Amino acid sequence: MEITFAGKRAVVTGAGKGIGRATALALAQSGAEVTAITRTQADLDSLLIECAYIRAVCVDLGDWEATEAALKDLGPVDLLVNNAACAPLAPFLEVTPDQFDKAFSVNVKGALHVAQIVARGMKSRGTGGSIVNISSQGSQRALKDHTVYCATKAALDMLTKVMALELGPYQIRVNAVNPTVVMTDMSIANWCDPEKVRTMKSRIPMGKFAEVEDVVNSVLFLLSEKSAMANGVTLPVDGGFLAC
Ligand code: NDP
Repeated sequence: MEITFAGKRAVVTGAGKGIGRATALALAQSGAEVTAITRTQADLDSLLIECAYIRAVCVDLGDWEATEAALKDLGPVDLLVNNAACAPLAPFLEVTPDQFDKAFSVNVKGALHVAQIVARGMKSRGTGGSIVNISSQGSQRALKDHTVYCATKAALDMLTKVMALELGPYQIRVNAVNPTVVMTDMSIANWCDPEKVRTMKSRIPMGKFAEVEDVVNSVLFLLSEKSAMANGVTLPVDGGFLAC
């Protein structure tokens, strides 16, 4: 199945590392004009060395006013990937207000804010569009020490559905992908214990974690016209974890 994004303008948040970076590069390779947003300038510098055509915006998406200012000249956008997130891990009884506020401000409020900015333009231009929120298997299953992370991703799933409801009439589709563990910077520290990894993989029917490419391919599908009637979907990319 050939997917091209020639002539499309795409925004990817959290594009400095991991899944977001790979998504930004894949979109650029498929012909899209890409704006990559993240908060570490060094990551944007190295991204631009890999692909000079990407436009870079450096901002902390947990800061509403700074985001508003950084994106005021964003221009028309057809495709958005809300990928930026943080994953503070702690046993439930030790969760701090700061962990809670920081994670919700990036993982949920930041996604809502960037989507508002982008979708207002899509609506006023009448061109439609496609938005993909990167959620997690943790939105639908309890994972030990993931209180705040799971709660943010459950919120993101419902945000996805309400956005699909309200933006659908403008031909703006909103979907989520819900990956299992992917070995990126976010997860490496959390999944270094071989026993913990073995237990987690034993709960995944396919017996393995996802690769970055598995997630990127599902994101590209949901962004593209190949999924033209998919709206409000939370798509597991989890080897069957959520099915059982
Ligand atoms: P990484 O930590 O590798 O990359 C996250 C990117 O988001 C980084 O570039 C990071 O920048 C950026 N980011 C984080 N906070 C902010 C912020 N406040 N403002 C701007 N940019 C920010 O994570 P992954 O690639 O693993 O995760 C990508 C998405 O996939 C996330 O939504 C995550 O929840 C989800 N996911 C990941 C899984 C996994 O196992 N890896 C499993 C399921 C879902 P910086 O490094 O500078 O903070």
